[in-house]
Amino acid sequence: MSKGNIGVTSDNIFPVIKKFLYSDHEIFLRELISNAVDATQKLKTLASVGEVKGDLGDTRVRVIIDKNKKTLTVQDHGIGMTADEVDRYINQIAFSGAEEFLDKYKDKTEAIIGHFGLGFYSAFMVSDKVEIFSQSYQPDAKAVHWSCSGDPEYTMEDTIKAERGTDIVLHINSEFEQYLEDATIEKLLKKYCKFLPVEIAFGKKKEWKDGKEVELDEENIINDTNPAWTRKPADLTEEDYKKFYHELYPMQMDEPLFHIHLNVDYPFNLTGILYFPKIKTNLDIHRNKIQLYCNQVFVTDEVENIVPEYLTLLHGVIDSPDIPLNVSRSYLQSDNNVKKISGHITKKVADKLAEMYKTDKEDFEKKWDDIKLFIQFGMLSDEKFYERAIGFALLKNIEGKYATLEEYKAQIKDAQTDKDGNLIVLYTQDPDANYTYIERAKAKGYDILLMDGELDVHAMSQFEQKNEKLRFVRIDSDIIENLIKKEDTAKDTYSDEQKEGLRKAFEAILPADKKLNYYVSFEAAAADALPVFLTQNEFMRRMKEMSAHQQGMSFYGQMPDQYNLVLNTSHPQIQALFDQMTSEEVEEAVEKPKAADAQTSDSAPTSEAVQETVKKTVYTLSGEDEKLHQLLDIALLASGLLKGEALAKFVNRSVSLLA
Ligand code: ADP
Repeated sequence: MSKGNIGVTSDNIFPVIKKFLYSDHEIFLRELISNAVDATQKLKTLASVGEVKGDLGDTRVRVIIDKNKKTLTVQDHGIGMTADEVDRYINQIAFSGAEEFLDKYKDKTEAIIGHFGLGFYSAFMVSDKVEIFSQSYQPDAKAVHWSCSGDPEYTMEDTIKAERGTDIVLHINSEFEQYLEDATIEKLLKKYCKFLPVEIAFGKKKEWKDGKEVELDEENIINDTNPAWTRKPADLTEEDYKKFYHELYPMQMDEPLFHIHLNVDYPFNLTGILYFPKIKTNLDIHRNKIQLYCNQVFVTDEVENIVPEYLTLLHGVIDSPDIPLNVSRSYLQSDNNVKKISGHITKKVADKLAEMYKTDKEDFEKKWDDIKLFIQFGMLSDEKFYERAIGFALLKNIEGKYATLEEYKAQIKDAQTDKDGNLIVLYTQDPDANYTYIERAKAKGYDILLMDGELDVHAMSQFEQKNEKLRFVRIDSDIIENLIKKEDTAKDTYSDEQKEGLRKAFEAILPADKKLNYYVSFEAAAADALPVFLTQNEFMRRMKEMSAHQQGMSFYGQMPDQYNLVLNTSHPQIQALFDQMTSEEVEEAVEKPKAADAQTSDSAPTSEAVQETVKKTVYTLSGEDEKLHQLLDIALLASGLLKGEALAKFVNRSVSLLA
């Protein structure tokens, strides 16, 4: 038996491991199983080139819990290690400048593990003692037993081991007894080992029989060694892809919309399958995430830095040996491979969508409503993706017809260009609520888009920025004659004083609501339009809607909703109100700055104000209360703002007016 000190230049690596790696201690299992799988695959490679002869026999990796001995064993039948190799690979950890390094990467435990090949040593995070029993595949090699109790001192001796391969035996520390529980280990195995290329066995298969769970003879294999993404697309059917989707996300009931199989070997290695899921609610969005693998070992499902943000909404797997296992965030961001991978995935996704659009427009249109969110998100967040996607991003009108922006512009160009050459796109977010406005627009031969998506407001602002003289206006943001101005709008003949009188009459009966502001205005709309109606300024409303998604814009979000109460001066009902107004001349005190006497003084005029009395005509409306209320309520009703008591009053008033 030999004794020695593990070759670490730092005095004692174990307190360091325990301290720094504390938060991620569960990864020890991933590390040990990865080593076991590597050893097994190396053996298979040697066999395939004829260096290892004969039948390889059982090559399963096993995880075995012994509750009495309080041990957890990871067992493989791979290449094994000779005493020399244990000395080289385990005893002599190249660890120069360890302390300095550890200091620098305090918070990045995975970086430490990956960088310094501490995989095996992570076992000490949860163990009092770790033993290695190994029998190398090499002819005549003696089996070796290595043991270490969490200090730099180890022992090594020859031993007898019947089978080729390595057992790593962890004597689990009393603080970590959860790792002696079947359920905990099974969960970790499912998380990290589900798609490893070598079979991982843990216990026996169980079955429910007569209300009892009974153990079968068969071993319980945790993983699918040949997951879909590692196979050739040509060998997979649509069914295979769907099956794999549910294997990835067992809780997901819906089928994915479609998939993209990634397969790159230059300039980096990347395989994977991305699925476009059907998103029903906001809650669904981040429930299932893209999983990142490195040679079929699960690394993380926090892929924010590897795929562009908008693609994190997709589901699926990405596997790349070029993505370092040590996925500390800052490391990933600066990694060149990772940047290239992100760019490549973007391109692949865009290419696939473009191809789908080209080959089957009808089918693409059917999927559009479900994938719209991803594509808009992508276009808004990635300039390059915008350029690619503009060719297949669709707009949908209220009749359910689809068109790309360019196609749509061509379709509406003749009817919807205003007198200043602006192309006006009309839209609604709620066709039912905007019914009357829509009817008026249709009567003029205009088309109306349905823009009820969560990112539509942002998308249209982006279209406006990128297309000169293109404006999106919601159908109820002004009278239709003003939305697409063909000539100067008709003028009425009423005086400002008359309008002021009517404005005051309406203002007196406007509903009081802190969250709503009404401004009474006058427009000479069509004679057959409503006498009174509401419009909402496009800019203000859109700012408010956008602020709901954006930080730093809460200023708009807190503002009350602004409505214009438009009195249609072309409508006989409003004209009748004007006719019924009475006027009287009143004397009014007006403050006016004193006119400067230019001849006597060239100094600035005095700011002193003088009182001057003028005569003014004041118009008032009397005895029209019921009618005013009725007109106002009709306007509110048409915009869906008449509710509760006000609505009940309106109904009763309408009935009595019938009498
Ligand atoms: P890494 O796997 O990152 O190289 P580890 O500390 O996990 O670092 O392992 C160091 C080396 O020990 C491995 O590269 C391998 O040569 C050897 N090794 C570890 N576990 C096994 C095993 N189960 N079978 C054979 N060799 C192993």
